[in-house]
Amino acid sequence: MPEQVVESIMEAVVARNPGETEFHQAVHEVAESVAIAIKKHPELARAKIFERIMEPERQIIFRVPWQDDSGRIHINRGFRVEFNSAIGPYKGGLRFHPSVYLGIIKFLGFEQVFKNALTTTPIGGGKGGSDFDPKGKTDNEVMRFCQSFMSELFRHVGPDTDVPAGDIGVGTREIGYLFGQYKKLTNSFTGTLTGKGLGWGGSLVRKEATGYGLIYFISRMLQTLGKDWKDLPVVISGSGNVSIYACERAQQFGARVIAMSDSNGYIVDEAGIKLDTVKKIKEVQRGRIKEYAAEHSSAQYNEGSAGIWTVPCKVALPSATQNEIDVESAQSLVKNGCIAVGEGANMPSTPEAIQTFIDNGVSFGPAKAANAGGVVTSALEMCQNSMRLDWTFEEVDKRLHLIMDSIYDQAVQAAEAFGVPGNLADGANIAGFLKVAHAMMAQGLV
Ligand code: NDP
Repeated sequence: MPEQVVESIMEAVVARNPGETEFHQAVHEVAESVAIAIKKHPELARAKIFERIMEPERQIIFRVPWQDDSGRIHINRGFRVEFNSAIGPYKGGLRFHPSVYLGIIKFLGFEQVFKNALTTTPIGGGKGGSDFDPKGKTDNEVMRFCQSFMSELFRHVGPDTDVPAGDIGVGTREIGYLFGQYKKLTNSFTGTLTGKGLGWGGSLVRKEATGYGLIYFISRMLQTLGKDWKDLPVVISGSGNVSIYACERAQQFGARVIAMSDSNGYIVDEAGIKLDTVKKIKEVQRGRIKEYAAEHSSAQYNEGSAGIWTVPCKVALPSATQNEIDVESAQSLVKNGCIAVGEGANMPSTPEAIQTFIDNGVSFGPAKAANAGGVVTSALEMCQNSMRLDWTFEEVDKRLHLIMDSIYDQAVQAAEAFGVPGNLADGANIAGFLKVAHAMMAQGLV
């Protein structure tokens, strides 16, 4: 698409989806990348494939009433955006966070379409969630909320239709309550949700998958740069599921992870983060990262999460949330000698930050390629559920590793084929887009 076509598409997106700034940002980023691919394939332009892809196939918005422990009634809003089913059932997580609104869910669902296409597994793209905040709620309150949420969602999902998973604020506890209600309402035990617990349909490695996958992806990047993880200083934002398991694998490969964060602030421990302490605080006590500094005298705590990008490192893994690295943070990473950035979170770098990395020769692993390990393993969970079989940890990890290598190769090859060698952001967008586009062309105007 020539520049003016991208601009007119963006005008239409903004007019049709007012106020959904994260969605506009995600569409713009992909439109700019795939413009060169569409120029080479005019039949895709004639069929308006890009314009069709950016319109979700279906959007569901619903009321979620629930009662807290003291009997007070609360009303939240639930969402499920079924974005694209050209290559398989809709697949993507549920996010429970007060910031959730339609624009966030649509940006995540849109990104998911291309990410899932890169995984080489047969899954379409979707995303959902609610503006409910599980923080500070009791287990019983979370359970009542999840049951109410599923009382509506169950009629829209199914093992061959739409298979939700977790995301921010939705871990094994929430998936358990959602699954229990789904099973009761449908009287069936199927693989409709992934991220289930071990022993009731879950897959080994799912918990670790996004973090481990990110490290496998960045390992390939480091190899290309002639480097390895040994003693490399690494900064990882967040201290949730992705961050913890990225830290675990990086440390197992010999890296020195020196900083982690949460939404209040960050810790720096030059002696190397003691991951057992982080796991205890975050996974067991559901506490704050600040508590780490009280247990380890080698660490300092700083208020404000954005400051983490001023900590000098060779590899930066933003794994908390969208738009957490702005241009100033990117410049600070470049100035301090960072050689590689791998996005563990979805869209954690602003477009200006990505440009700063590319202009300064920092190797950049975009989210839809680098953090695909979670959805890869969810697809492997669906596969095991369909076969009624459980694979070993080694079997799942081996498949995850192979698929992450293949995602890296697809992004590199597409970047080369379309004249932007080394630009994995464009490469991943083009490879994912072409796979979905060709499937849509084959299936006619539906
Ligand atoms: P979690 O809820 O487990 O953890 C999120 C972490 O990010 C927490 O430490 C949280 O801190 C921190 N955080 C949230 N908002 C901010 C903020 N504004 N500034 C700084 N830190 C913040 O989520 P996940 O680890 O599962 O997900 C993290 C990211 O990775 C998301 O973008 C998600 O979409 C993406 N992702 C996750 C996958 C998965 O398999 N889990 C798969 C692919 C992508 P606090 O506790 O203070 O809120």
